Amino acid sequence: MAEHAACQEVVELVSDYLEQSLPPGEASLFEQHVNFCDGCDWYLDQMRSTVATVGRLTEHDVPDETRERLLSAFREWRRE
Ligand SMILES: [Zn+2]
Repeated sequence: MAEHAACQEVVELVSDYLEQSLPPGEASLFEQHVNFCDGCDWYLDQMRSTVATVGRLTEHDVPDETRERLLSAFREWRRE
């Protein structure tokens, strides 16, 4: 995971992560990132409760609008 694209990659990988279909190396990079990144930690929480509610998650379950809002929130966080 490249440092600069990390948050966006986390957003893209979160459904794979929750379905445990990430290779172990990527899963641990993912966890490392989430541990120090509040934005992605929050996002993961949201997705986890979505999965708990809906039972399953695909990338398409996240509306474009929500995704856009999250990604711009990440950009805000990173500026601080
Ligand atoms: Zn992040």
